[in-house]
Amino acid sequence: MISASLPPPPALRAQKVAVFLDVDGTLLEIAARPDAVRVPNGLRQLLGALAVATEGAMALVSGRPIAELAHLFAPLDLPLAGLHGLERRRVGEAPIRAMPDRQALAKAKARLVAFSQRHPGTLVEDKGLTLALHYRNAPEHQGAAAALVGEVIQASSGALVLLAGKMVFELKPPGCDKGQAIACFMQEPPFAGRLPIFAGDDVTDEAGFLTVNELHGVSIRIGLEGRPTAARFGQADVEALQGWLAGLLAQPHELGS
Ligand SMILES: [Mg+2]
Repeated sequence: MISASLPPPPALRAQKVAVFLDVDGTLLEIAARPDAVRVPNGLRQLLGALAVATEGAMALVSGRPIAELAHLFAPLDLPLAGLHGLERRRVGEAPIRAMPDRQALAKAKARLVAFSQRHPGTLVEDKGLTLALHYRNAPEHQGAAAALVGEVIQASSGALVLLAGKMVFELKPPGCDKGQAIACFMQEPPFAGRLPIFAGDDVTDEAGFLTVNELHGVSIRIGLEGRPTAARFGQADVEALQGWLAGLLAQPHELGS
């Protein structure tokens, strides 16, 4: 693991790569509430052009549910991995989902909702296979939220594990992560045989960086904070990444090769 001052990723051509992208904090600025984000038309056009140039080897790999990703980025129809890898969908097919322990999720949800009612500004997001407790709008409750989440995880007897993201604690069934989702895509057309690229900004993206590194691909961490990361390359922010992604569409002579 290295930290800070990561070099910028090299110039590459879309024709040779498979592109995997986290969404919040990577393609889009993080909003106060998850449902407050908007996808600018320019970004939609960039992703559409990349999907064409990579012959479909471009997927979104997010903590959001697939249904939400599809809605956010419509009319684009992209391969998607949702809920940190718990669900995955190829274009034109039904999603493949992990089987959750519904009872454990229901019990956990009841406790999180009760907590949220006692701690104004915190927000419980029920994503179906996972539960997220957001405290972005009430950072003073972080300690209490961490304590509660620890208790809930312990009470679940292994049915749920913790993913701590940016101002959010997420409870999910064990066993799937973004790295596994990327590895699955890479075994199938149109991804197989291409050089994988994965860009992400958060702790939950580290599994994706590790997978891409193992495949000798390009792992890109967004943001300049000093947190240790397995990513080998960095971009300062959402805008910088979009500039680099646009460069994938450059013609060979523009790269000087
Ligand atoms: Mg993110």
